[in-house]
Amino acid sequence: PSREYAAKCLSALDTTATLLRSAESMLGDLDAIAGDGDHGRGMVRGSAASFEAANLAYSSGAGAGSVLIAAGDAWADKAGGTSGVLWGAGLRAFGERIGDAEIPTPEVLAQSVRAFADRIASLGKAEIGDKTMMDSLLPFASSLEERVAGGTPVEQAWEAAADDAREAAAATADLRPLKGRARPLAEKSLGTPDPGATSLAMVFAAVGPHFTE
Ligand code: ADP
Ligand code: MG
Ligand code: MG
Repeated sequence: PSREYAAKCLSALDTTATLLRSAESMLGDLDAIAGDGDHGRGMVRGSAASFEAANLAYSSGAGAGSVLIAAGDAWADKAGGTSGVLWGAGLRAFGERIGDAEIPTPEVLAQSVRAFADRIASLGKAEIGDKTMMDSLLPFASSLEERVAGGTPVEQAWEAAADDAREAAAATADLRPLKGRARPLAEKSLGTPDPGATSLAMVFAAVGPHFTE
C-alpha cells in the first residue's frame, strides 16, 4: 500500500483536529443561534477520534484508503450529532475511492471529494440552498473537478476550490435552514452563516496542502 500518501492523510487529519479545537467555541456560537450549540463540541470530538483511529491504522501498516476509512468510522462513532454521522460517512467514502494502492492522480482526488459529497447527499438528502454543509461542499467538489479537468495544477485547483467554498459558506447567512435542527428557528438564523457549511469550508482549506503536495 501507499505508505507515503497514508502519512499525508494522517497529517491532514492531525491538522483538522487541531484546527477544530481552535474553532470549537466559534462553531458552537454559530450553532447556538438557531441550533443547539454543540457543533464545535461535536466536530472536536469527531476529528480527535478520527485522528486517533487513523494513527492506530497507520501504525499497523495500513495504506491511505484504509487510514481514511478507519478515521471516518471513528468520527461517525464518536462525534454525536447530525454532522458527525455525515462527516464520518463522507470520510469513509473518500477513503474507499482513494484506495490503498498508490498516490491518487488529481482526477482520482477530485472523484474522491465527489464521493464524499455523494455519500453525504444520499444520507442527509439536503440540497443546495437548504442551509447545510452541502452549500459549501457541492461548490468545492464542482470547482475542484472543473479546474482539474481544465488542467490547473492540483495544488492551485484545491486552493481555488477552497476559496469558492469559503465564499459559499459566508453566503449561507442569507438563507433560511430547510434541514436539520435549526429549521424551527429559521428566522433567527437569517444573517448568520450555517455552522456546518462554515466548518467544512475551513477544514477543506486547511487540508489542501497535505492532499495535494
Ligand atoms: P446537530 O444538528 O445534530 O446538533 P451539529 O450541530 O454537529 O449536529 O451539526 C449541525 C450542522 O449539520 C448544520 O449546520 C448543517 O450544516 C448540518 N446538517 C444538518 N442536517 C443536515 C442534512 N440533512 N444534510 C447535510 N447537512 C446537515
Ligand atoms: Mg448542533
Ligand atoms: Mg446536537
